[in-house]
Amino acid sequence: MRKITQVLNVPFDAVTMKEAVLRVKILLNTEGQHFICTPNPEIVMEAQKDKELMSILREADMVVPDGVGVVWASKYSSIRLKERVAGYDLTQSLFAELAGTEKTFYFFGGAPGIATEAARKMMKQYPGLKIVGIHNGYFDSEEEKKIIHDIKKLSPSILLVGLGAPKQEKWIYENMRLFGAKVSIGVGGSFDVMAGHVKRAPKFYQKFGLEWFYRLITQPARWRRMMRLPIFAFTVLKTRKRR
Ligand code: UDP
Repeated sequence: MRKITQVLNVPFDAVTMKEAVLRVKILLNTEGQHFICTPNPEIVMEAQKDKELMSILREADMVVPDGVGVVWASKYSSIRLKERVAGYDLTQSLFAELAGTEKTFYFFGGAPGIATEAARKMMKQYPGLKIVGIHNGYFDSEEEKKIIHDIKKLSPSILLVGLGAPKQEKWIYENMRLFGAKVSIGVGGSFDVMAGHVKRAPKFYQKFGLEWFYRLITQPARWRRMMRLPIFAFTVLKTRKRR
């Protein structure tokens, strides 16, 4: 049974990283196709005005918080989120857990060459990791048909889709019956980090919940997107008072 807490109507699973990995393993052995979303506060805010995105998040098989802001917001609910389960960290835990087993991955997304470089580095870091297919995330509708066909043919256990949110969530939802991967996960810019093109915040920033600040000083072009963070906090506090 899922233990869920709502943050501005987005249903998050109250799981630790260990429990999230366990749930993916269960989904891998459950009939049908499944998908996992890893929203941060920006995406929770986006879902307030994008109804399609909100309904996709509400239908996902697991939703984990990619941001301390979401974990903080859950403290106003009866069920609290246990910890941040970032998409990037979830992929790393899955690689560690499934390397050397028969489970396979497909990397889809990122600029040309990025997912290939990411795959090369991950297979070196996790010996026995099986990455059966790779495609960059820039395509037209003809190319898209070929990508879906390629995924279907290779039939990966886990499809990682890094097209940025909410494009990746919508793409997975629209196409999952066609490509047939067992579990699909939207991973944002994770391939850029795996390939070493974008640096993750140092441990200090992660530990103190300041990864957003690190991103702001290293990628100042994101400031407009990041303005949603204080708006998110304000909206959470406002809805709490109304209760
Ligand atoms: N991307 C892509 N296709 C697109 C648009 C974006 O593959 O049409 C990739 C882009 O190259 C980058 C990722 O999607 O690797 C988005 O990264 P970002 O850090 O912005 O992700 P988010 O913060 O949305 O999770």
